[in-house]
Amino acid sequence: METKSNPASTDGEAGGCGVVPLHRGAPGARAATGRVYLVGAGPGAPDLLTLRAAAALQRADVVVFDRLVDPAIVEMASPRAERVFVGKERSRHPVPQHEINALLVAAARTGRTVVRLKGGDPYVFGRGGEEAEALFDAGIEFEVIPGVTAACGVAAYAGIPLTHRDHAHACVFVTGHLRDGTVDLDWVALARPMQTVVVYMGVQALPVVCRELVVHGLPASTPAAMVQQGTTANQRVVTGTLASLPEVATEAKIASPSLLVVGEVVRLRGRLGWFDPAAACRLQPAAEGVAPRAARAG
Ligand code: SAH
Repeated sequence: METKSNPASTDGEAGGCGVVPLHRGAPGARAATGRVYLVGAGPGAPDLLTLRAAAALQRADVVVFDRLVDPAIVEMASPRAERVFVGKERSRHPVPQHEINALLVAAARTGRTVVRLKGGDPYVFGRGGEEAEALFDAGIEFEVIPGVTAACGVAAYAGIPLTHRDHAHACVFVTGHLRDGTVDLDWVALARPMQTVVVYMGVQALPVVCRELVVHGLPASTPAAMVQQGTTANQRVVTGTLASLPEVATEAKIASPSLLVVGEVVRLRGRLGWFDPAAACRLQPAAEGVAPRAARAG
């Protein structure tokens, strides 16, 4: 069994909940190597960034970021920080994952503090696990700073509680990413009553997902929503049922990044939809959505 641990781990350290020393172990032993922060940038609205993420950005010498990260967040990094865009789009990986991994390792080995900014949470469908493994294998210290994953942020802003005592006792996150034109999911497990299903990367697969959920037992009348660019001033929400949503979404030209939410909780949106994207647009101009004082989003 693997017993090696991340050299940056603070488990068991007295007072380990505060600021973490940059290096530990024998003095000077790792002095030349920088640390990598795997940072969740949140689901869209820049002011959903955590305080810890903001602090890491201000310390960064290098910021490596993805397409889904709002430019206002990248701008929070110190002006001297080098900014490296490694944006990814569906079926198009401008920088292959192994090169991103190598880039993080190489940058840390020059002694610099590296922030790897990823949309949402780094460990939810973001390949953050692979990046952390590469750092571990290379002996690079790292720290993971969680972010608000799209499911949580987008559902909240769409007026959909993911769980609810009366409607959903469980919530499942899956990816609808197509492989060879098909989606390989455990449909029996997904088509359970009293459960909310959230599908990331599900625009292409929407018709397949809706069809399979019905084939495996969910009523065709089960409510479902597609939320595009949730939490931002550009948020759009379309709702329907498993039977109607694919057509509704096509007509509305729903595009990536969008999240599919399936389950009875979607009905609550009629009463709980508090967020007005138009108001967010007025209150939260893109460049002012972040520190020093977070703008209100609706
Ligand atoms: N690590 C990210 C997910 C990356 S996968 C996270 O934790 O959120 C990218 C997918 O996330 C998109 O295809 C889309 O399904 C979803 N997504 C991210 N931001 C979104 C947003 N603002 N609105 C709707 N969906 C979003």
